[in-house]
Amino acid sequence: MNDTIRCLGCSNELSEGYIFSPRRICWSESADSIFADFGSSEVLISDPIFKIRKTPAFRCEKCNLVTFKYK
Ligand SMILES: [Zn+2]
Repeated sequence: MNDTIRCLGCSNELSEGYIFSPRRICWSESADSIFADFGSSEVLISDPIFKIRKTPAFRCEKCNLVTFKYK
């Protein structure tokens, strides 16, 4: 594979890895607290039930930016 993924911010080559979390990871378009925002957020990665699954991700260490594919 020679398709290098580059950072949107600085166009550096991104390093490949995985992200994981013991909890779900959610997305919201609003900066309101989750109590005010309840219902309008989307679960990107749901709660692990039996094991903590890792999600493939790409990271730019310069911009502190992580890109991952959910679901
Ligand atoms: Zn960058």
